[in-house]
Amino acid sequence: MTIPEPEELAIVRTSIRRFLEAEVVPHRDRWRAGKCVPKEVWLKAGRAGLLGISLPEQYGGAGGDFRHEVVLIEELGRIGFADFGVSLHNAIVAPYILHYGSEEQRRRWLPKMASGELIGALAMTEPGTGSDVQAIKTAARLKGNRYSVSGQKTFITNGQNANLILIAAKTDPAQGAKGVSLLLVETDGAAGFTRGRNLDKIGFKAQDTSELFFDEVFVPAGNLLGTEANQGFVQLMQQLPQERLIIAVQAIAALEAALDHTLAYVKEREAFGRKVFEFQNTRFVLAQAATETKVTRVFVDHCIALHLDRRLDVPTAAMAKLWASDCQNRVIDQCLQLFGGYGYMAEYPIAHMWADARVQKIYGGTNEIMKEIIARSL
Ligand SMILES: Cc1cc2nc3c(=O)[nH]c(=O)nc-3n(C[C@H](O)[C@H](O)[C@H](O)COP(=O)(O)OP(=O)(O)OC[C@H]3O[C@@H](n4cnc5c(N)ncnc54)[C@H](O)[C@@H]3O)c2cc1C
Repeated sequence: MTIPEPEELAIVRTSIRRFLEAEVVPHRDRWRAGKCVPKEVWLKAGRAGLLGISLPEQYGGAGGDFRHEVVLIEELGRIGFADFGVSLHNAIVAPYILHYGSEEQRRRWLPKMASGELIGALAMTEPGTGSDVQAIKTAARLKGNRYSVSGQKTFITNGQNANLILIAAKTDPAQGAKGVSLLLVETDGAAGFTRGRNLDKIGFKAQDTSELFFDEVFVPAGNLLGTEANQGFVQLMQQLPQERLIIAVQAIAALEAALDHTLAYVKEREAFGRKVFEFQNTRFVLAQAATETKVTRVFVDHCIALHLDRRLDVPTAAMAKLWASDCQNRVIDQCLQLFGGYGYMAEYPIAHMWADARVQKIYGGTNEIMKEIIARSL
């Protein structure tokens, strides 16, 4: 952050950094090859206090706030491993339960999310629709005291590991957005639930982004998020600013890390008898990159401060996501160029940073949708 970090957060940062250096960095390549971060790593992260870092202590969390999630995202960005879907688990799925869940639901699920026994996913996107959430076809029909859930989801982060899936489904198919509800599906032993392919991607190689199939999966009526049905769209809309801010934080963390890697490389590498850093082109490219990164950092920090103050509105969060992810792609592409051929080699972190950046303009609402949202507010 540009503002000095309070001591407590600095201690948290050090302990997260130690955990990631010891338990994640040595294994990244293996997990990328296997397209998944193993479940035991989630349990280790739980024991180290990384999961539920911002959850209240009464629900098994560490009692932090969004700043603690920011530190975790920044540290994952520093090691170029945003593949690990802990931010989605911690700062997207858990807050839905915390904000809209009943006390019984919070006590049932949050402590297990904090320990890593439950891994969360959010399943909105379907093969036929992504941007237009109200067009989802997955249906949840009330039969007695249970919902019967049928439908398909795709591109779901943590899709292979997740055993607590927050699913968007139509509880009133005759209505558009007003007929959507969110339900928690506990998948362990759930008849009718199957996982499809763990999808091959151009980046985020260690993230188990997957297809999910629901064929008359029975879910207790008490797993509906909130007290009444058909509130899902409102709940999604209220949580979106935080989700988009998370993407912006991921972007600035990746930008800063990419800049550090690139500076170290060009100050070492020689061509034509000089350090690559001494070419005027390199200096100008990096001067521009550093400036854009700093401007992005200031804006993202501003948005974090607004969010902590509960004043981050939907269009400003959309601006943060749009700006930061565009800048991330532009600048990291220029950084990679300065590595020459080595930048294209998977053994160099910049190669992963470049490939991982691309999806940031797509998920969480595409950048075109961000522009629509911003334009509506003008
Ligand atoms: C790695 C990865 C992880 C993901 N994780 C999750 C997850 O955990 N949970 C989940 O639910 N989803 C997830 N997604 C899905 C993601 O949110 C969607 O891919 C995204 O919302 C876009 O939807 P779509 O792919 O169906 O594209 P479409 O909606 O079909 O869009 C296609 C193109 O049309 C453009 N477009 C659409 N509507 C408009 C419009 N009104 N105006 C202008 N242009 C428009 C889009 O911008 C895009 O360029 C993930 C995706 C990826 C790639």
